[in-house]
Amino acid sequence: MDRPQFVYSFEKGDAHNKMLLGGKGANLCAMTQIGLDVPPGFVITTEACLAYLDRGQLPAGLVDDVRAHIVELEVKTGKRFGDESNPLLVSVRSGSAMSMPGMMDTILNLGLSPATLKGLAARTGNPRFAWDAYRRFIQLFGKIAMDVPDAAFDAAMTETKRKHGVVHDVEFTADALQELAQAFLAVYREHTGRPLGADPYEQLELSIQAVFQSWNGKRAVDYRRQFRITPAMANGTAVNVCTMVFGNMGDDSATGVGFTRNPATGENVMYGEYLVNAQGEDVVAGIRTPKPIAAMAQEMPGLYRQLLELRDKLEAHYKEVQDFEFTIERGRLYCLQTRNGKMNARAMVTTSVGMFEEGLISKGQALNRINALLLEQLLVPTLDPTHEARSLAQGLPASPGAASGSIVFDADTAEQRGRDGEAVILVREETKPEDIHGFFAAQGILTSRGGKTSHAAVVARGMGKPCVSGCDAITIDVRERTARIGDAVMHEGDIITIDGTTGNVYPGRIPTVEAQFFDELATLLTWADEVARLEVMANADTPRDAARARAYGAKGIGLCRSERMFNDPQRLPTVREMILADTPAERRAALTKLLPIQRADFKGIFAAMAGLPVTVRLLDPPMHEFLPTASQLEFEIGQLRNLQRATRSVAELPDTLKLLDPELPRDYVDSLGKLQRSLGQYRETKRGDVALERREAMLKKVHQLSEVNPMLGHRGVRLGLTFPEIYEMQIRAILEAAAECSKEGIDVHPEIMVPQVCAAEELTRVKAMVDALRPEIETRYGVRVPCKFGTMVEVVRACMRAADLAQVAEFFSFGTNDLTQATFSFSREDAENKFLPHYIESGVLPDNPFEMLDVDGVGRLMQLAVEWGRKTRPGLVVGICGEHGGQPEAIRFCHNAGLDYVSCSAPRVPIARLAAAQAALKEREST
Ligand code: ADP
Ligand code: MG
Ligand code: MG
Repeated sequence: MDRPQFVYSFEKGDAHNKMLLGGKGANLCAMTQIGLDVPPGFVITTEACLAYLDRGQLPAGLVDDVRAHIVELEVKTGKRFGDESNPLLVSVRSGSAMSMPGMMDTILNLGLSPATLKGLAARTGNPRFAWDAYRRFIQLFGKIAMDVPDAAFDAAMTETKRKHGVVHDVEFTADALQELAQAFLAVYREHTGRPLGADPYEQLELSIQAVFQSWNGKRAVDYRRQFRITPAMANGTAVNVCTMVFGNMGDDSATGVGFTRNPATGENVMYGEYLVNAQGEDVVAGIRTPKPIAAMAQEMPGLYRQLLELRDKLEAHYKEVQDFEFTIERGRLYCLQTRNGKMNARAMVTTSVGMFEEGLISKGQALNRINALLLEQLLVPTLDPTHEARSLAQGLPASPGAASGSIVFDADTAEQRGRDGEAVILVREETKPEDIHGFFAAQGILTSRGGKTSHAAVVARGMGKPCVSGCDAITIDVRERTARIGDAVMHEGDIITIDGTTGNVYPGRIPTVEAQFFDELATLLTWADEVARLEVMANADTPRDAARARAYGAKGIGLCRSERMFNDPQRLPTVREMILADTPAERRAALTKLLPIQRADFKGIFAAMAGLPVTVRLLDPPMHEFLPTASQLEFEIGQLRNLQRATRSVAELPDTLKLLDPELPRDYVDSLGKLQRSLGQYRETKRGDVALERREAMLKKVHQLSEVNPMLGHRGVRLGLTFPEIYEMQIRAILEAAAECSKEGIDVHPEIMVPQVCAAEELTRVKAMVDALRPEIETRYGVRVPCKFGTMVEVVRACMRAADLAQVAEFFSFGTNDLTQATFSFSREDAENKFLPHYIESGVLPDNPFEMLDVDGVGRLMQLAVEWGRKTRPGLVVGICGEHGGQPEAIRFCHNAGLDYVSCSAPRVPIARLAAAQAALKEREST
């Protein structure tokens, strides 16, 4: 019969096919095939999983295939499945194409039953070990395959510990473990309604089904949604069946996890943790605190050397930092898993530079292996070094960065408070996969137990959130909702600060500072610039932002929003005067006051960007944005009127009161008199009247300026042409600032950019203003002021008339925020608040086009504009300055569309530089 092959042994599986075998399975195959010591096993494919989920039953033939492969394992190991004297035990492990840490659980020691248990005990001469393995199996199988709640097992565990006066499981005697296993069997029976079956094949079949089902479990579904893992990236989970090896067979046995390099710093030093005489997840679960891997050099020198060899083989094969799991059974080292190491951005950059310098990878590989978006993490805040707070306690520095927030003790509370916009720190003894929603909501994670490879640490690092783990100076009282941290008792809601870079925990909020560039990042980005064709500019509105953008490697300012300077509280009154002006003369008077202010601003930016271009966009937003809202004004007017009325009534008050009581007491009249006099004085100054008049005038103006669709209304160049004195002032400020800089020997390259243009004639008229002002300024300052002139392209008609615009404009800059609104006829706020989430969830649109550039629609318009514009003016410079300018996919599109530059906010400049290089590398690859 012709049916797909559902099962592959580790020797035969295609190590490159992660979609089919899952990441874990493919890597088990790869390791087996390059000769590493992997316990024998086989992979059941993701196709089998999908077939199972589709039909609700295991596909035909699968069970037979599994049996055949078990027989193969029996041959390889000399053990037999279900055998009473020499039983084969296996683990059943999930694994999809994308690594989803902790999302789906593993069942260990499958194949144990009261009968095989005896064989295991006899074979190993270690009944304690056998019972220990058995009780672990009952719990794992019960929990994962049969949904028995963990709490029920935990209760039995606590009870047994109490009875035997034991603190850690390792102290249990064989008898105590036997009792524990019996108690677990009882728990199992109670919750499933039947005893745990002894047939290992039945156990195996149930386990396989459970793993398949876990693909659609809540945890896995949530995780995929959060990280946008689509079926094209991972579809279904594979099941890995792997012969058990035991790290808990004595002091020559151990289990551990390693990184081929330090995943926090990227330093080329093996990193990891291990536990002697322990099994499986003991290291990860944080039940016992493991030792750092370096300690193995003393404790087990021979094995440590083998581990170093393993590390070298893994890196030589994968040419990538590996995160691997190993187990030593009676002096023999097995590798149980490997995958590409998840590292923070700093380590990614450092290892890229390191591996290139060691000759392991090429420059192109060094650039390509880093997800450009990761670089954002490098700008994670660190504690202000001048702070003098004393730390309450210190744990392990598990994920770098610093964060402050209110303490919460569980993931649900974190989610709730986080949704309300509160910054929270999730504080727990240890975390589990079911806490994942709390991680999303929290600013940082703090745990009292577990090492640097504990669940909390791994997940926080993946998310780039600060984490301090294993902080044993913390005792949490979940019922009272308090935690003792060092000497302090903190309540839920109290603010703390954690520093995941040092492991310190502080009371209260500590200010943070931005991260600095480090040498490896500078090196890597220099490589990126060598490869990239697109230049990276920055959007910056102040000298401070400009300086920062320059430090991050921006090649100029692609967008300086001149109106941002208007919003300064000290300038706003003058801006309002300008808006309230009824005649051009009045308006000019206000503009005259604004001129020196704008000139000084531009000068500051030009100086910060000396030698590089600065593109200034003339005033863009509608004017009402600089005025208070109508409702605010109406409220204030009401208040002022009340005051006037009150003043009047107080004047009449004594006479009115005498109507009620002719004998009104004297001192009463006195105090009223005082109030009357002071109010009277106040009235004479007319301050109330002036305030009222001003507000009434402003309200009138607000009504006049109010528009049905302000974003499509009187703004941008439309404003500039109807009130030309505004643009004239701005153009003058730009040219005069440039002239002053030139005179001071500062190399300036100003560019003037006109927003909201839809017709070439608009540009022609603004250009005429520039041409009229320039000669006068050049003569007055005695310097030449070259200035480029160009346009934003953010209106659909501008794209369609690109050929005409290019007659006047020397450059185009796509404003993709407005262009996206215009292309879709969506107003951004309404779309995002009302229907876009539904559109995306139900698949009408693939993404939010305001976040991900819509290449098919908006992108098509851009391509046309570039083509038509360059036909008119072959040297036309074209860039993009919308928020999309810092987004890697959009950058790749811009590269392919032949743009000259992208402009994005300063913190995104490093991302854009790397993404620009990756776009160029991609193009080379495909040609
Ligand atoms: P995860 O996806 O959580 O890493 P794994 O399948 O790797 O799950 O298994 C969980 C734990 O069990 C790990 O510590 C792993 O090393 C251990 N383990 C899995 N299979 C075996 C085996 N065949 N022998 C010994 N330990 C195993
Ligand atoms: Mg797991
Ligand atoms: Mg694992």
